Amino acid sequence: MPSSSIVFVLGGPGSGKGTQSRLISASHGMTHLSIGDIFREEVKDQTSKYAKILTENMKAGRVGVKEMTIELLRKAMTAVTKTSGCTKFLVDGFPRSLDRALLFEKSIGQPVCVLYLECEDRTLRERLGKRREGRSDDNAETVEKRLNEFERDISPVLQHYKSMGVLIDVDGSRSREEVREEIESKLQRFIATGSRRHS
Ligand code: ADP
Repeated sequence: MPSSSIVFVLGGPGSGKGTQSRLISASHGMTHLSIGDIFREEVKDQTSKYAKILTENMKAGRVGVKEMTIELLRKAMTAVTKTSGCTKFLVDGFPRSLDRALLFEKSIGQPVCVLYLECEDRTLRERLGKRREGRSDDNAETVEKRLNEFERDISPVLQHYKSMGVLIDVDGSRSREEVREEIESKLQRFIATGSRRHS
């Protein structure tokens, strides 16, 4: 993969990753890749060797094996670069565990920065309750599993990026516009520093 800029967007389910990623990617000429959307698309592909295991994982609220996640991300990034020439990516919902973060760095490269949308569980439950109609994995039982799994695995990931000096904490509980403004102001310094080389 040629030199590219990658921003990760992390936060609990319902913290606004998708919402903010759409806004931010549009204003920075970046391609928004949602790991959840990549999985959901893969499930629809009849020829995919991952479709069955992904369906089971999503029903159970599990994240799945790391190699598969990285392979699907790489495939998506390569396809975008091939068709549009875009090498700037905003990846939403990845990495949710330290082993995934480290494998991504080894096989693809380092993120320019990592946005973390902080939000209380109470707010996340409320938002997902409202989104429920549109997504099969937003039922109450799966939401609790996703919240528990997220909280269990995310601290070492945040610690890792903090020690690299690339973590951007954002208060995700405020209005969409306030969150967007906070992200834009904090992102400037990282985006301006340019891209990192990826293998
Ligand atoms: P995620 O991608 O982190 O799961 P979404 O962006 O899909 O979260 O947002 C979850 C739900 O909450 C959506 O219905 C979205 O419209 C709503 N939402 C997102 N950001 C905010 C916000 N700042 N305030 C209130 N509701 C929000």
